[in-house]
Amino acid sequence: MTAQLIDGKAIATRVQAETQQRAAEFETRFGRKVGLEVVLVGDDQASHVYVRNKERTSQALGLRGLAHRLPADSSQAKVVELVRQLNGDPTVDAILVQLPLPKQIDPSAVIDEIDASKDVDGLTAVSAGLLALGRPMLQPCTPVGCIRLLDEIGCDPSGKHALVIGRSNLVGKPVAQLLLARNATVTMAHSRSRDLAGLVGQADILIAAAGKRDLVRGEWIKPGAVVLDVGTNRNDAGKLCGDVEFAAAKERASFITPVPGGVGPMTIAMLLGNAVRAAFARAGVIS
Ligand code: NAD
Repeated sequence: MTAQLIDGKAIATRVQAETQQRAAEFETRFGRKVGLEVVLVGDDQASHVYVRNKERTSQALGLRGLAHRLPADSSQAKVVELVRQLNGDPTVDAILVQLPLPKQIDPSAVIDEIDASKDVDGLTAVSAGLLALGRPMLQPCTPVGCIRLLDEIGCDPSGKHALVIGRSNLVGKPVAQLLLARNATVTMAHSRSRDLAGLVGQADILIAAAGKRDLVRGEWIKPGAVVLDVGTNRNDAGKLCGDVEFAAAKERASFITPVPGGVGPMTIAMLLGNAVRAAFARAGVIS
């Protein structure tokens, strides 16, 4: 069997077109653009690139995407003060604090200040709690992007065995919750799990989010499984690659995401979708 590639780039382009249309609807109905504001603290080069990309893409889709860039030595109190100011601004619908934050700042203390109705990354304790209770508000972008990819290929997780590798608050835990909400039987593997090969061999749906290049050997994959590779690593040539041994895995899977061009493009698409959803919800329109 040779797997069909899941074209995350093409699907993300479609999601963005939907978002652009909804953003225009919002502006027509409420007389202002959807407001997304990003807080960036420090000099991390990758973060600066991501934030510029978020500003550019959100503006291209008709949102008011703005970034607040604070110096690396900013105090936690200063960052919290900015978040509180954005919480109180009625033209701000969505707030994102770019991680990582400099060492002197406790990320949870800052994230938990974000008003849950504006928590476009779905990372506050309130958002995570609601997700765990099966009453999600705004859902974390990469996990919800994975679910959208499953929907797009017509893969219904109900009754299937899903293995999630990785248990971070950003990816592993929320994607497991979302799969559970779709009635999958979910197993979570992590750095202390034993017999990863055996676990992978039982999975109808595999979501790899460990950040370890070639962690999942192609021959472990259950024939016909759907494989979503969230990992972003560099190979010896400096090229982006995932957690799954792609060439061998694609000979066993039914569908597989490439890296790059699979899960990655979905993250920003779902983020901007969340921003528009937050804006409508705050205006009393649930979608
Ligand atoms: P993280 O480092 O916070 O978590 C990694 C998880 O993997 C941990 O729970 C750990 O227990 C588990 N793990 C590590 N080694 C393992 C092993 N040998 N066997 C089983 N489990 C193991 O990372 P994260 O923030 O969850 O991100 C995971 C990966 O996904 C990274 O490569 C990251 O760059 C990538 N990522 C990609 C996107 C995207 O948009 N494509 C978004 C977020 C994260």
